[in-house]
Amino acid sequence: MKVHVNSRICAGFGICLGIAPEIFELHDDGYAVVRVSEVKPEDEDAMRRAVSQCPAQAISLSEASSQ
Ligand code: SF4
Repeated sequence: MKVHVNSRICAGFGICLGIAPEIFELHDDGYAVVRVSEVKPEDEDAMRRAVSQCPAQAISLSEASSQ
C-alpha cells in the first residue's frame, strides 16, 4: 500500500502525525508529507484511520503494484 498527501488541500492540522509519526511529517511550509515509499502491512490500519480522520480529506491510499 502507498499513501499520498495532497499538499494543496492539506491544512496542516497534524492529526495524521499524531496517528503515525513514523509515516507523516510536517513540512516547513505547514503541510504533511509522507516519509515512506511503501506502507508496511502492520501500518495499514493506521493509514485507514488517518484517511478517515484527516479533516481536509487530503490523504489517499493506493495499492502498490506487486513486482
Ligand atoms: S491530518 Fe490531513 S490536513 Fe492534517 S496534516 Fe495530515 S494530511 Fe494535512
